[in-house]
Amino acid sequence: MPSTRAIQAECPFCDRPTRVHRFGRFNRANDGSVQQRYRCTRCRRTYSRSTGTPIWRMRRLDLCSVVVHEVSSAKTQRRIALQYQASRNTVARVIRRVAEFIRIVELSERQMRAPEVSVYFDEMETFIHARANRVSIMLAVSDRRRIVAFDFAEFPAVGKLGRKGRKKYGPRPDRRPAERCNFFVRLQGLVEPTCILKTDEHRAYPKLVKAYFPHAEHFRFKAMRPRYGDYGELRQGGFDPLFTINHTAAMLRDNVKSLSRKTWCTAKKMGGLRDVLTLYAYYHNRYLIRVS
Ligand SMILES: [Zn+2]
Repeated sequence: MPSTRAIQAECPFCDRPTRVHRFGRFNRANDGSVQQRYRCTRCRRTYSRSTGTPIWRMRRLDLCSVVVHEVSSAKTQRRIALQYQASRNTVARVIRRVAEFIRIVELSERQMRAPEVSVYFDEMETFIHARANRVSIMLAVSDRRRIVAFDFAEFPAVGKLGRKGRKKYGPRPDRRPAERCNFFVRLQGLVEPTCILKTDEHRAYPKLVKAYFPHAEHFRFKAMRPRYGDYGELRQGGFDPLFTINHTAAMLRDNVKSLSRKTWCTAKKMGGLRDVLTLYAYYHNRYLIRVS
């Protein structure tokens, strides 16, 4: 769970800085801690430090740090609920709240972080709700294996699965070209314009790099054959120049339950998958890899 210190104790109801007074203390029931209450002199409303934050009025605060660890360790939400005696709706809600919190903290930390100078970009495939509803996960990974950014784009399945999907769920648009552009716009804020960009030989990438990173050095590598018997992300045939991002993709498949292959566990909605990946990226960057 990120520190609550990132959030200021200013009046959450007023749109400008006001004078606030301390206004008694209370025992927070869910963790037994003593919390300071404040009152704003302008709007006269009282609040505590968690007012207006994603953990406001949350009863199961104990689950916050639990879900970050468990979701990133290939556990299903139902199993987390069973283990920690909560309902699965509670677990789903906590994941959503914690993901919101992580996004706020990351936004405030972004200014302090130097832009990346060497980045890998690739996409991995998964699905939402049914295997025919394909989703591409765009992934940018630094040369030190930090997950810099990720996003999603839906696209139609091909072949037999595609025909089945069209019949059952209707036509599915291919949003990959548009979403790739959005993703690269986001990357511009996170990566140095003169960076080194490494990708495979996908034919859409040179145009993208030229449009959004005209001063970057773009290296393209031929994708190697997937290694048999694991997640289909690592390669066989000697040295893999894209090992860094392929290994990160393999970690995602191994550590996020709904991303593993042949899984029973499916993400039902894009928002849920986004929250789970937000938690995982946080856990990955902070605990699984050691980057100063
Ligand atoms: Zn106020």
